[in-house]
Amino acid sequence: MIQNTEVKKKDLTQRGLLLEVKNLRKYYPVHTGFFKRKTGDVKAVDDISLTLRKGETFGLVGESGCGKSTAGRTILRLTNATDGKIFFEGKDITNLSGSALRKARQDYQMVFQDPYASLNPKMMVGHLVEEPLRNYRNKSHKELKPEVQHLLKRVGLREEDYYKYPHEFSGGQRQRIGIARALALNPKLIVADEPVSALDVSIQSQVLNLLKELQEEFDLTYLFIAHDLSVVKHMSDHIGVMYLGKMVEVGEKESIYREPLHPYTQALISAIPEPDPLNKKERIILKGDVPNPQSPPNGCVFHTRCPMAMDKCKEIVPQLKEVKPNHQVACLLYENE
Ligand code: SF4
Repeated sequence: MIQNTEVKKKDLTQRGLLLEVKNLRKYYPVHTGFFKRKTGDVKAVDDISLTLRKGETFGLVGESGCGKSTAGRTILRLTNATDGKIFFEGKDITNLSGSALRKARQDYQMVFQDPYASLNPKMMVGHLVEEPLRNYRNKSHKELKPEVQHLLKRVGLREEDYYKYPHEFSGGQRQRIGIARALALNPKLIVADEPVSALDVSIQSQVLNLLKELQEEFDLTYLFIAHDLSVVKHMSDHIGVMYLGKMVEVGEKESIYREPLHPYTQALISAIPEPDPLNKKERIILKGDVPNPQSPPNGCVFHTRCPMAMDKCKEIVPQLKEVKPNHQVACLLYENE
């Protein structure tokens, strides 16, 4: 488990907004029958909103299949949104295309879950890291090499690693290569999609600490996507909890971990191992599996698994509502607060 070494408290309230996502939707059409008629949609991301201030880390959590990775990819414009708006530094980037999108993309990069799958095994590490630079600057390998070697050193690799190939590295080192690649263009926002979940637990904290150091040094803003709440707690300032494509709770980290409001968040937090064996806490076991996103339940999408579900939860869709300062929840238990 990741040790909870408290991050130096950042005063983010004075920082400007970097990213604003409003009512984002990403639906995938479902076609069936001989004529492949459209018969519905998989609502992978269904009306989520979030904001990130410069220098902050927003942790997006939920079980696999909840839509958090699709949200990250849609925000980065790796796939087009079905509806909603994405503003980066106040500029609407939702429908950018062609050279305008290419130019804007320098400012936001992605670190992937599986560094091996995202690195071309036939390319030397130096060339892999410099690839984004060569795409944007008209310079030769020779001209870019000192910059690339500096980047390799900065992420904890050696200058000589420039000449090696991905298979010669461990999982943690490969993720460092992925991070160097993401940093090459000096971005402002990095979307890190499960960046340590494929790594041994012993290596995870090294990579997380590297990400934190780089954040301080380069004033980076992170959208940090993960299913492991202890990892998210270690990294984030704000947290958003997703379930079946919807945001069910959003708030400051301390508030969410101290007093989770949504029954789903309560269950997720109850599953975090407690480092102190004397500090006993009751684990909330959720019944059943996550429903098929192609036919989500009516009303509150969590009602089929919720230990607190009421009759009205089968009919009424709860809306996100601020019930404590900077802490919103979408649950009918709080509708009168
Ligand atoms: Fe549970 Fe109802 Fe709240 Fe949904 S609205 S989380 S079913 S209590």
